[in-house]
Amino acid sequence: MGQVQGKVALVTGAAAGIGAAIATTLGREGATVVLTDLDDRRGEATAEAIRAAGGQALYLHQDVTEEGRWAEVVGEVDKQYGRLDVLVANAGIAIMGPLLEMSLADWRRQTAVNIDGVFLTVKHGIPLMRKSGQGGSIVMISSVAGLRGSANLAGYSATKGAVRLFAKSVALECAGARDDIRCNSVHPGIIDTEIWDKMPAGAADSRRNAPIDARAIAEGSVPTGKLGTAQDIANGVLYLASDASRYVTGSELVIDSGLMAG
Ligand code: NAD
Repeated sequence: MGQVQGKVALVTGAAAGIGAAIATTLGREGATVVLTDLDDRRGEATAEAIRAAGGQALYLHQDVTEEGRWAEVVGEVDKQYGRLDVLVANAGIAIMGPLLEMSLADWRRQTAVNIDGVFLTVKHGIPLMRKSGQGGSIVMISSVAGLRGSANLAGYSATKGAVRLFAKSVALECAGARDDIRCNSVHPGIIDTEIWDKMPAGAADSRRNAPIDARAIAEGSVPTGKLGTAQDIANGVLYLASDASRYVTGSELVIDSGLMAG
């Protein structure tokens, strides 16, 4: 039997990268997975791959910053499955560059996806979680940048630090026996996904506008020298989603191969 057998899970930003690995892993371990993203082609393909492997998956288009769409998405999950057990707030963007060169529009765009999107995830997801009366697990994907400052990623770091404390606050608010809903944050280190290709290169790479080489950053900063994979993060999320972590709430799971240890 899978580790999340029979649970219904919703994963945002699930078309690619870490979100796709989380959705695929939960699907493989027996959950019915609802994937949402802006990228319909890849979202549908990821859902189809989960179904082809014998799992159950549904893809829905969603911009996590749009509150009206949240009501529709959760309504659809309720209509199809009547419950929600696992909620993974994964969708996020990173805008890199010197602080003084960041426009207010970019600051707000990043805040909208990384903070407002997480707020809307729980605001709309928790009522359906409560409906089953069987508790649930919320996982928010923060970052090592949410544990310490990051030059040239100041706005990103601010949003991920906010997510860290938001997760703890949600954990406290949902800790009562009435809810039994757990909430934890996950803090990935340097993970091999396309998020690095989307960041304009700043001082982390002195060749401005050159592509960012995540592997070189990992080799230079991670104690083990290893670049992480999306699956490394999905493995941690699987634990937090499953009943194996029933006594874990308000915690932060750092998956960084020692980056924060020093
Ligand atoms: P990614 O860019 O590969 O994937 C992000 C996904 O989110 C994409 O499919 C994208 O379409 C989707 N998305 C973006 N904006 C959205 C929106 N408004 N609504 C719905 N979906 C949206 O990135 P990733 O590396 O897989 O990142 C996943 C999460 O992990 C993010 O929250 C990121 O901040 C965090 N993280 C990543 C790393 C890393 O090194 N890759 C490290 C720490 C934290």
